[in-house]
Amino acid sequence: MYLSKFHLSTVKEAPAEAEIISHQLMVRAGMLRKLGAGIYTHMPLGLRVLKKVENIIREEMNRANAIELLMPVIQPAELWQESGRWGKMGPEMMRVKDRHERDFIVQPTSEEVITDIARNEINSWRQLPINFYHIQTKFRDERRPRFGLMRSREFIMKDAYSFDVDKDSLMRSYQNMFDAYVRIFERLGLSFRPVEADTGKIGGFASHEFQVLADSGEDLIAYSTGSNYAANVEQAEALALGTRANGKSNLQVVDTPTQKTCEEVCALLGVDLLSSVKAVMFMADAGFVLCIVRADHIVNEVKLGKLAGMGNLRPALESEIKEFLGVVPGFCGPVNPVQKITVVADRTAAAMSDFICGANQIGKHLSGVNWGRDCPEPDVVADIRNVVEGDPSPDGQGTLKLCRGIEVGHVFALGDVYSKALNCSYIDKNQQAQIMQMGCYGIGVTRVVAAAIEQNHDERGIIWPTSMAPFTVAIAPIGYGRFPDVKAAAHKLYDELSAAGVDVLLDDRDERPGVMFADLELIGIPHRVTIGDRGLKEGMLEYQARRDTAPTKVAVGEIVKHLHAALA
Ligand code: ATP
Ligand code: MG
Repeated sequence: MYLSKFHLSTVKEAPAEAEIISHQLMVRAGMLRKLGAGIYTHMPLGLRVLKKVENIIREEMNRANAIELLMPVIQPAELWQESGRWGKMGPEMMRVKDRHERDFIVQPTSEEVITDIARNEINSWRQLPINFYHIQTKFRDERRPRFGLMRSREFIMKDAYSFDVDKDSLMRSYQNMFDAYVRIFERLGLSFRPVEADTGKIGGFASHEFQVLADSGEDLIAYSTGSNYAANVEQAEALALGTRANGKSNLQVVDTPTQKTCEEVCALLGVDLLSSVKAVMFMADAGFVLCIVRADHIVNEVKLGKLAGMGNLRPALESEIKEFLGVVPGFCGPVNPVQKITVVADRTAAAMSDFICGANQIGKHLSGVNWGRDCPEPDVVADIRNVVEGDPSPDGQGTLKLCRGIEVGHVFALGDVYSKALNCSYIDKNQQAQIMQMGCYGIGVTRVVAAAIEQNHDERGIIWPTSMAPFTVAIAPIGYGRFPDVKAAAHKLYDELSAAGVDVLLDDRDERPGVMFADLELIGIPHRVTIGDRGLKEGMLEYQARRDTAPTKVAVGEIVKHLHAALA
């Protein structure tokens, strides 16, 4: 590509609303232009990157025997009513009407359509397993679109769907996709980690997220120092810290007129925070739920919500807390509630003795509290807290550390939720109809681009991994208009590299070197060859990788070989 024939539109300043570096750099590099909240035009430079990412994904999906098709963006409501998601999806799903007042949705995902395809196209066990995918625009009316392509409303996703005869076969399809994802993110040159994820309300057998490690990530990941264990904090299992000792202290009421938090109460009593527990109240199918965790721990509502009776979980209102515990928040605990409640204790809290908690009386706490002696044993003891750094790894090897991640991909062994709802069945070897087992597998193509920048940039701009760079090599002639030998050498190199299939950009704008270098660095071209009149007279050019601090002199006759080595 000749830069004079391309549309490059770099800008000096990023808009104030661009909070994270990838968003700032994508705007400054001219990859993106905003049309509305969370809606962007992919400018020519950005589109080149997207296409490179898409191609890698496509190649690896095809290699894994997934079959590409293309499903519609606009989908009739009927299928979504059949699956039950028309009622469940909430405002994130965009609904539209056609001229006949018929309901449609703008696809946030495509389980319904693909299941409809499968039930119509697949009849026999002989046709299974099969995996279909497409790379297509999605729309989700996110509550807070932000961070540019990281959390936009319109975005591009690769979504694949596998269909199998049974669970064992599904788990093989799942592993096949998992392995393909590892290859994809490796080829994209990203530092990533597959982590165990919540299988959520849908159920399902297994789920992993592929997280690109970056401080700006919205997800919190726990990983072990002693093994490969890694999980989203939503999911990572928290073990009991310690075992319960016999209580030694007597139950005492302590006055805490203004002390409502565990920190304040422990400071007043001059004791360690870890000797106190925290009460968090919810309403659920089981009624009023009092959760008890150690004072320094945080209740994990995802985990709590999965326990029996915890459907329709929501924080309790102050009026409900008064009704069931007889007190206002700040003084709540498991001892003497005024009505029947369900007490759910975290494993660590259940292992405590002689602890401090609220007394269910205004301005009072209790110390020396013991389960079974001063209040009943908890109704439920379970893992209901977030892991914290230093917790033992649930696989018994090492301890946990936390880091932030950007979820770029998600694989999910769904089971039969959608296939059952849509009656997607096949005829087995014994002529019996059986429901298919499904998996679904997404990659946020546009989010991958943003995540790559979060991981690869410096103060001058983007540093693309070669595999997704908009151009692989930039030729930067100094004095393009003034020195015929420079111009000739630049075109000769351009032709040679193009002929060798290298994606090369020739900056033939005849700009000052400062402007030229600033642009090429901002847009992150990973390899640059600078051609100057003086160097040429000595038979030399300069090569500089985007991460190099200084250029390397290379003989004119050696440059193509040198580049091929750098690209390998
Ligand atoms: P998140 O928790 O980030 O909202 P999700 O669980 O809703 O993600 P999935 O439904 O699993 O995401 O979608 C598959 C992939 O699509 C995600 O892994 C992510 O890479 C991408 N994705 C989801 N929502 C967005 C969005 N609003 N903008 C850009 N990419 C997105
Ligand atoms: Mg989401």
